[in-house]
Amino acid sequence: VNRSGSQIREDFLRFFEGKVSLVTGAGHRRVHSASLVPANDPTLLFTNAGMNQFKDVFLGAEKREYSRATSSQKCVRAGGKHNDLENVGFTRRHHTFFEMLGNFSFGDYFKREAIAYAWELLTSKEWFGIDKDKLYVTIFEGDAKVPRDDEAFGYWREVGVPAERIVAMSAKDNFWQMGDTGPCGPCSEIYYDLGVGASETGEDLPFPQDEQRYVEIWNLVFMQFDRSSDGVLTPLPKPSIDTGMGLERIAAVLQGKVSNYETDLFTPLIAKAAELTGFTAISAEEASISDAKNAASLRIISDHARAATFLISDGVLPANEGRGYVLRKILRRGIRHGRLLGQERPFMYEMVFAVRDEMVVAYPELKETAERVSKVVLAEEEQFARTLELGLKQMNEETLRSGSLAFRLYETFGMPLDFMVDAARDAGIDFDMAGFEAAKEEEQARARASWKGGSQKSAAPVYRELAKTEFEGYLALRVDGAKV
Ligand code: ATP
Ligand code: MG
Ligand code: MG
Ligand code: MG
Repeated sequence: VNRSGSQIREDFLRFFEGKVSLVTGAGHRRVHSASLVPANDPTLLFTNAGMNQFKDVFLGAEKREYSRATSSQKCVRAGGKHNDLENVGFTRRHHTFFEMLGNFSFGDYFKREAIAYAWELLTSKEWFGIDKDKLYVTIFEGDAKVPRDDEAFGYWREVGVPAERIVAMSAKDNFWQMGDTGPCGPCSEIYYDLGVGASETGEDLPFPQDEQRYVEIWNLVFMQFDRSSDGVLTPLPKPSIDTGMGLERIAAVLQGKVSNYETDLFTPLIAKAAELTGFTAISAEEASISDAKNAASLRIISDHARAATFLISDGVLPANEGRGYVLRKILRRGIRHGRLLGQERPFMYEMVFAVRDEMVVAYPELKETAERVSKVVLAEEEQFARTLELGLKQMNEETLRSGSLAFRLYETFGMPLDFMVDAARDAGIDFDMAGFEAAKEEEQARARASWKGGSQKSAAPVYRELAKTEFEGYLALRVDGAKV
């Protein structure tokens, strides 16, 4: 019997509630998802992992009345350190919005228990019952600062994973960090083998970079350090555990699908997107097989409807900068794919209700917010339609190929750059970014010349010096920070 996405979410939380401390007798505390807009963390664009709301607990700066917890966390990865916006629609396992299931230990248990719990949940017949022969795990291979994780290797052997199924990997995949600073540590990832023939490229690559055949389902992070902006790793007060498993990915595995978009978490949304865009000539199911391009559009609309709904529900509004700009980009991209399917009238605002209907049980706040969210989306759709009405008539292969023509569109009709870049990519056209930048620079130089003395000139010399040093200091930081 297939477990529904909602059932899997519930089973995960229940499993960890039942895993108790031998010392205190307390199980994992079920903690509600935090907002997508991080509270008091300027280093973070959106909540991108279950551990975000516990950051200060890991750092020892905050105490809770529990030392183990479990949650299903709303995440958005569309900007900042973890950015999957470009992947969405084109891989089977990336979303802008997804749910991360996690278990956490704040100085309570460490590697041995984390590994044993994860293995039991995944493979035990009473729980997920996944065939052990389909699973591989990774460990951190070590680098100049942190040694190879032989400990984790040993614990995987203890639960019965054969040595040849344990692969050592580099920091890129197996040293997790939330952002450029903050809690971090080596990690161990669990991969599911979709089998020969599941690769989209036809190549069955043995491991990451391009893990079409092997999909990462769960990451166990052994939180051990606090990373400062100059790259120094300071040990945390207590070694801790932070894990994250994508609900959509484990649902695909347990429902026997190769793609997250074929799970029950997405099929109703894809069907709704097909209906609202008038793309009903063939069913959504058929579309995903027979018509790759249109199917990608339906996936993108479904994904972006989830992201936009939850972002606006959590208080983000479309804007020209910061979080609001990312939201705007996501909405416009959804609208564009609706147009590719032939829908020129607003439709995303109706997707909001479909998202609510699917998600309201797990995220009850949607009951209160959906009306408002839908209104915001509709206003954005109407406003953007006016831009497009003028701009789209002018946009064609020629304007996308010539940066200076594209800049003219941008200047005159407010055609967004990301919209044109996206359109070019879909049409297989190389967008002339250099030409665009050059045209923009030329325009700015012209504007500067007509200002007759800007702020730089009028600022007292001492402030000019100060601004310069600060900027150089900042650059140095960044360069250093990029080394790890
Ligand atoms: P990947 O290598 O596939 O991009 P990741 O290593 O960046 O994943 P983690 O930061 O380890 O992901 O996050 C923990 C888990 O969250 C992953 O193992 C995966 O199951 C899930 N996950 C990560 N990014 C996404 C995404 N964009 N969409 C859906 N699930 C995701
Ligand atoms: Mg990733
Ligand atoms: Mg990974
Ligand atoms: Mg990972």
